[in-house]
Amino acid sequence: MSYIPFHEPNTITMLAGPCSVESLGQFDEVGSALKELGLTWIRGGTFKPRSSPYSFQGLGEEGLKIMAEVGATYGLKTLTEVVDTAHIDMAMSYVNALQTGTRNMSNFELLKAIALATATNQMPVLFKRGMAATIDEWLSAVEYLITRGNPNIMLCERGLRTFETATRFTLDISAVPVIHKRSLFPICVDVSHPAGQVDLIPSLAKAAVAAGCDALMIEVHPNPSQAKSDASQQLTIPEFSELLLELHALAAAVGKTIV
Ligand code: PEP
Ligand code: MN
Repeated sequence: MSYIPFHEPNTITMLAGPCSVESLGQFDEVGSALKELGLTWIRGGTFKPRSSPYSFQGLGEEGLKIMAEVGATYGLKTLTEVVDTAHIDMAMSYVNALQTGTRNMSNFELLKAIALATATNQMPVLFKRGMAATIDEWLSAVEYLITRGNPNIMLCERGLRTFETATRFTLDISAVPVIHKRSLFPICVDVSHPAGQVDLIPSLAKAAVAAGCDALMIEVHPNPSQAKSDASQQLTIPEFSELLLELHALAAAVGKTIV
């Protein structure tokens, strides 16, 4: 697979898609909409790091196959999370980029294995901040990825665990300028997981663009109330399309285009 940059200057990479890949029909519907909206990436969870073992754990390889099929149909690049070293090679054979989740920021053996596996083709890796990690700890952990030869990394702020309960996590918007000041990595802001509820997502997304994010992650589902994970925070396709129009205007104001 040829080199895919995760982020180009003056753009905001939109990483939208459902929390979990649930079926070909579900993922295809989102893929078709994202293509229609002129976007280039689609996300989807295939191995889910759920807080409860009784919750939906993801479709595994079947989900990866769906991602590959939908990606090929619409010419979209695909992003999924790996939670286990045993799944890295398998995931890499189906998708265009890997994600490490908040619960694995300090799983250094996983990070080493991803670094080793992606060193040759420099596959993009989205490296999420641990929900209780300082920026220093996050920037230290990312060294596990880059020192093995893959600099194609994007950091992702996704909210912190604080005393506040009005939101699912507290989005640290200041991480955007701090990361820009302290490192050369592009930074994505995942607005869905900190919000935990649909109505807050437009404001958080606009704040992230205004703060200078290089990418946005937004969960989108054809029928959120039926979603197998994170039902309360996923936008419908029309809600996402409407928000994207506003984000395009805001991105233009800061000299960027959303891709
Ligand atoms: C996700 O993006 O699907 C996810 C599980 O996110 P986080 O690791 O930030 O909870
Ligand atoms: Mn989710």
